[in-house]
Amino acid sequence: MVPREDVPGTEGEVWDWIKKAVSFLKAVTDSPTTEALLLLSHVLRVRKEKILLGLIHPSREELEEFMALVKKRSEGYPLHYILGFKEFFGLPFLVEEGVFIPRPETEELVEKALELIGEYGVKVVADVGTGTGVIGVCLAKFAGVKVYATDVSDKAVMVSRKNAERFGVEDKFFVRKGEFLEPFKDEYDEIEMVVSNPPYVREGAKLAVDVMREPPEALFGGPDGLEFYKKFFQLYDLNGKVVLMEIGEYQAEELGRIVPDAQFLKDSSGAYRFLLVNRRSS
Ligand code: SAM
Ligand code: GLN
Repeated sequence: MVPREDVPGTEGEVWDWIKKAVSFLKAVTDSPTTEALLLLSHVLRVRKEKILLGLIHPSREELEEFMALVKKRSEGYPLHYILGFKEFFGLPFLVEEGVFIPRPETEELVEKALELIGEYGVKVVADVGTGTGVIGVCLAKFAGVKVYATDVSDKAVMVSRKNAERFGVEDKFFVRKGEFLEPFKDEYDEIEMVVSNPPYVREGAKLAVDVMREPPEALFGGPDGLEFYKKFFQLYDLNGKVVLMEIGEYQAEELGRIVPDAQFLKDSSGAYRFLLVNRRSS
């Protein structure tokens, strides 16, 4: 009789592979089991529930492919670059190497933006540094606003455009390459609200290995992390507009000196995470 461990696809053996994967993944993540299941479901193109129910029969090649991805991940390659998508606001956004992976705190920025849009009846929003397009695409989809999005990265322009199409808002989400609001100079007066999750990490800050694989222009905001805000608020006359931006956990005090009329809002963990400037006349 063939020894059990030589028969791939039996439920027991799959779990042996998953356990091995978990022991590798522990080096880089606090959720090794979830990540192992996500990587296996990616290889098998099934939902992870199917694995948990023991309803899969992977081939030896598939299990080897799975372990190769587990090794790549345990050397610090970001999970979501392997999976090719990241869930944000309930939608599976496409992500790929070279573009910032959306973070959960930014979902709270979208919630606040939706409230402000409702309160002020905003129709046109600019999303500066759109990355995968998460903020702008969600606002176009859930509030029906027109969005002018910019990014300095070609890859981000391409990926955000794909996401706008993926979620059916390509007629409301317009993205152009360039710094700040420069690509929409001609449309500037139309813009009622500016939203952004800019790069705000201090140059030289120690980041996790996987975060270091994300594009530096998405993360680093100069020696104090505040370059983007300083330039933005210097460049534009924001009279009549509302600005909502994500900020680093300990930046509110310094930003309050740079933008004296800014208010700071806390995120659900209690940290000052958002800057709000309201220069509407009424
Ligand atoms: N908005 C996306 C999100 O929340 O997931 C991406 C945020 S990422 C932290 C910052 C983005 O801003 C990157 O895509 C980067 O390429 C872009 N960026 C950096 N400096 C910029 C500038 N001066 N003007 C426009 N985009 C910029
Ligand atoms: N929160 C990000 C991190 O994980 C930084 C995001 C940003 O710079 N906007 O480092």
